[in-house]
Amino acid sequence: MQRISFCPLCGHELEDMIPPGDFKERQVCLSCQYIHYKNPKVLVSCFATHGAKALWMRRTTEPRRGFWTIPSGFMEDSETPEEGAARELFEETRGRVDPSSLALLSAGSLPDISEVHLTYRGVLLNPDEIQVTEEASEVALFAVDEVPWGDLAYEVVGSSTKKFYADHERGVYGVYTGSFGSRQSYFSEIRRDRLVK
Ligand SMILES: [Zn+2]
Repeated sequence: MQRISFCPLCGHELEDMIPPGDFKERQVCLSCQYIHYKNPKVLVSCFATHGAKALWMRRTTEPRRGFWTIPSGFMEDSETPEEGAARELFEETRGRVDPSSLALLSAGSLPDISEVHLTYRGVLLNPDEIQVTEEASEVALFAVDEVPWGDLAYEVVGSSTKKFYADHERGVYGVYTGSFGSRQSYFSEIRRDRLVK
């Protein structure tokens, strides 16, 4: 886990302590009272579809350089997850989706590395304009039988991805939830017809 040594506000050394009224040890600045809270990062992804196909990219960056993934990245401050997913899609592949049209596909977490993953789906608006970028050495639209399942950057997404393709073919979508970690792992599905608006 990320630790810092000095107060980002005043430069004083930080102390480990439980702040008054809190229940957890934090890094605290005794000079200016700054408390260094550490919260999970939110990774957003987008399945951008074109007919039966979805947009994939081959990573140029570590981790998992050279492996295939759907476009993903961490949310920036002051954006919605849908805006973040659309922004990352464009940055990595030049593909465009309308953030307001995106639907939630899965919500998952990796507590061991404090990440929450939200995956959306939406229609790719400009399939003729996708291109390689600094972050993607290849971009491609894959039908389910074209996905390089043996070369995925993250094995763990394989099951939800296959379910997505099956849902997409039927035109009836579930929402998937999962957590994967040393304490527990689970993967489950909430069918759309059981969702209460
Ligand atoms: Zn300080």
